[in-house]
Amino acid sequence: MNATPDQAMDHLDCVVVGGGPGGLTAAIYLARFRRRFALVDAGESRASWIPRSHNHPGFPQGVGGTELLQRMREQLGNHEGRVLSGTISSVTCRPDGTFALKYGRGTLTADHVILATGVVDVEPPLPNALEAVRRGLVRQCPICDAYEMIDAKLVVIGRGEKGLGEALFLRSYTSDITLVTLGEPLDLSPANMARMEEAGIRAVETPVTDIAVEGNRIARLAFADGMETTFDSIYSALGFHPRADLAAMMGLRLHEDGRIVTDDHQRTSIDGCYAAGDIVTGLNQLGVAMAQGEIAAVDIHNRLRAREGLKLASARDPAPPAFRQRVPEDAPAAEAQPAE
Ligand SMILES: Cc1cc2nc3c(=O)[nH]c(=O)nc-3n(C[C@H](O)[C@H](O)[C@H](O)COP(=O)(O)OP(=O)(O)OC[C@H]3O[C@@H](n4cnc5c(N)ncnc54)[C@H](O)[C@@H]3O)c2cc1C
Repeated sequence: MNATPDQAMDHLDCVVVGGGPGGLTAAIYLARFRRRFALVDAGESRASWIPRSHNHPGFPQGVGGTELLQRMREQLGNHEGRVLSGTISSVTCRPDGTFALKYGRGTLTADHVILATGVVDVEPPLPNALEAVRRGLVRQCPICDAYEMIDAKLVVIGRGEKGLGEALFLRSYTSDITLVTLGEPLDLSPANMARMEEAGIRAVETPVTDIAVEGNRIARLAFADGMETTFDSIYSALGFHPRADLAAMMGLRLHEDGRIVTDDHQRTSIDGCYAAGDIVTGLNQLGVAMAQGEIAAVDIHNRLRAREGLKLASARDPAPPAFRQRVPEDAPAAEAQPAE
């Protein structure tokens, strides 16, 4: 499945930029539509940070982020297609409406592009923060895992409306929440201060000087004024930076949060360019990224079908060898299936 840059030089139906859940889903669909595509991935999926997801449908025992990505890559590997490791450093819209994408020293050209480049979380400036996120000791996503924190004693790192919003979301799961600003001002309006107090959420504006980890939990935060707090888990509510450099370079319409604006078909403001997943304004979830990847791939396939006219398959007209599905030798003969 993995290709070299040299193999990827002929004109494609689509280049998918990003190999997280959004991009991989789009690629699986394009492969099954027998489209000529390449997926280019820099290998920094947010999903790889998920220790174990318990809210992603279809996995009653939960699923680790890297395992999920591996399963999706394996599914894509059942099909021929081009999967390239590395970074797309620029996308140029060409006068004929197609796209040129800079990949290393080479260029990929395609009729369509799907940007599924994701976002990067702002990690709290705490010792070993990245390791703590990987181990699930610092959490990023209450929608994903607040259920596992029912009645727990929680710290939310954040301030302002965003920090309070996350604390209030968690407040419906537990009564014991402290908002920790890491020495910054709390920055709440009088009305929001009143909401916070009414909800019984404490706030600490003193800098954090130390974190004690015991086994698989963060046991204690020490503050500059000598106070110490023990608790069960930390949520970071510091937001994220969209990986929107390509989108900005292309002049795509962006939302005020820096992410890409799309329509219901995942089309961006430039014809032929699509976006899916966390890089699109909306809910940052595995299932949403996957669904948007599906929608984008289907729309591209339908556009190409309309352009190509009705193409009828015949036994003498197989798919191009480079994009034909590998069928196991012991697979049963194909049966007629009704159209959906
Ligand atoms: C700690 C944590 C826990 C989470 N838990 C859950 C959960 O339980 N349930 C849930 O639904 N969601 C969860 N999420 C959110 C989920 O991980 C994201 O919503 C999902 O990964 C988004 O997928 P994506 O494909 O849009 O982006 P990503 O998964 O971030 O993938 C984007 C990919 O694009 C690549 N890329 C970027 N720019 C380029 C470029 N120029 N060229 C080539 N490649 C590029 C990146 O390297 C990356 O591999 C969690 C997130 C975190 C951080």
